[in-house]
Amino acid sequence: MSSTQKYKVIIIGGGPAGIGAAIKLHKNGIRQILVIERNQSVGGIPSFYKRKKGGVRTFVRWSRGGIPVFGQDYAKYLKKKITDTGVEIKLNSHVIEINTKQKEVTWVSPGEGKVTAEAEAVVFATGGREKTIPERKWIAGARGSRVMFTKHLLGLSDLNNLHPVNQPLIIGSDVIAYAAAAKLRTGGAQNAKIADNKSFPDTPFYERLYFRLFSKPSFRGKQTSSAEIKGSIAANGVKINDRFMDADGVIISGQLIPNSELALMGSLEVNIPSRIPVLDNNFQLSEQGWFATGNVIGGFHGAEWCYYNGKRVANSVTKYLSKQKLLATTKK
Ligand SMILES: Cc1cc2nc3c(=O)[nH]c(=O)nc-3n(C[C@H](O)[C@H](O)[C@H](O)COP(=O)(O)OP(=O)(O)OC[C@H]3O[C@@H](n4cnc5c(N)ncnc54)[C@H](O)[C@@H]3O)c2cc1C
Repeated sequence: MSSTQKYKVIIIGGGPAGIGAAIKLHKNGIRQILVIERNQSVGGIPSFYKRKKGGVRTFVRWSRGGIPVFGQDYAKYLKKKITDTGVEIKLNSHVIEINTKQKEVTWVSPGEGKVTAEAEAVVFATGGREKTIPERKWIAGARGSRVMFTKHLLGLSDLNNLHPVNQPLIIGSDVIAYAAAAKLRTGGAQNAKIADNKSFPDTPFYERLYFRLFSKPSFRGKQTSSAEIKGSIAANGVKINDRFMDADGVIISGQLIPNSELALMGSLEVNIPSRIPVLDNNFQLSEQGWFATGNVIGGFHGAEWCYYNGKRVANSVTKYLSKQKLLATTKK
């Protein structure tokens, strides 16, 4: 099936940034807004962090005095806020293509098939992802079972109460690695070993201190040019600088990179290798009327920052739309 629908603004991604942008656009008086989200619910990454007794709160709500909250509580709060506006949301809908000249967005959804819609402005709010093994450029070896990314670990442990790893080894040492170590420990695993190719952890002291309430991972860091994942059927450890660190699961964690594939495919300017889209001061991309917000713009921040950034970008979009209208009036 194929059809063309028309919107004022299309927002790709229903995470904190996309929801923040939609709410503010609505508040600014813009109507005919569409949010397209490939998951079955809005909320983005926070939806993967479930509330559990003794669980780890890893998201921060500034409005409650900056206290950590569970991700799903945060996602539910976003869902309520967007539902109250009545903004149209298409769930289970994956954007697969954009046409920058025609300002078209194409997505597939199980109910509608392939759909193309036009918009006067489009906002990318597609978030970030963890760097793959080749993108890290220092990891070799087996890719057996029990080699996973944090998002997969969360899907198994937080969302489905499974216990995928008992003796975890985490590669990467930014805050997501320490959060993963804490999740694993509260789920019943031993304290994780964290390994990285730098001398000190990427996580600041006070954040590590917070996660020590839940787990006390050891850190092995050294300038090294290679590490090797061992175990051909299931991961059984990692060899770094001739030293073998045993484990029954390897988690490749952190080091976020923007989810800017769609922008690249649409020939918008994107810096390589950082994959950070080129933006002006109004968060506008290399084509007029195309904007980006949240973790897709790089820098990598917490959810609440992304939510407020979404609101800020909504103001830029509103200004752009009103300027377009002004230009049209002047022409008449
Ligand atoms: C594994 C992992 C763990 C993290 N843990 C924390 C944490 O504990 N605390 C914290 O504060 N931050 C954490 N972050 C950072 C987190 O990404 C931000 O806090 C926040 O969620 C970013 O908001 P966002 O809206 O920019 O992106 P996201 O939350 O990533 O939302 C992007 C949304 O866009 C959708 N999307 C992407 N591409 C398409 C497409 N083509 N079509 C349709 N929909 C699409 C996705 O499904 C997603 O819902 C983590 C990030 C990762 C990757």
